Amino acid sequence: MPSLPDALRQRVFEEARHRCEYCQTSRRVTGIPLVIDHIIPRSLGGTNERGNLAASCYRCNEFKGDRTHTFDHVTGDFVPLFNPRQDRWSEHFAWANGGTHIVGLTPVGRATVMVLRLNNETVVEARALWVSRDWHPPQD
Ligand SMILES: [Zn+2]
Repeated sequence: MPSLPDALRQRVFEEARHRCEYCQTSRRVTGIPLVIDHIIPRSLGGTNERGNLAASCYRCNEFKGDRTHTFDHVTGDFVPLFNPRQDRWSEHFAWANGGTHIVGLTPVGRATVMVLRLNNETVVEARALWVSRDWHPPQD
């Protein structure tokens, strides 16, 4: 598969306002460049088309790996992970504890919180600092 054109990569980051489309972490807060997530992984036939691309932080991208679905621990249903191109973040997730934690509101949200470890110890510690400076959570 040809590599992703740089202009398209930049467009994905700009349209995401330089935030991870899963955990909402801003590149501007971490100083760490975002990466391109293939919503359907290339290994499973996912393409380089805009509809399959999302801006992601390095951690979410690593934890997601080549997964597209998992079990929701509440309903036991096998559900798709959050799809930033099709789903609205605020319908599936909410901030808790003043912005340090992400709560899954739906089976998709809960499954995604679990697989992507959206409340891993490292990011929760960082969020607490960002919240104390009013840099987080995003207000829009
Ligand atoms: Zn992330």
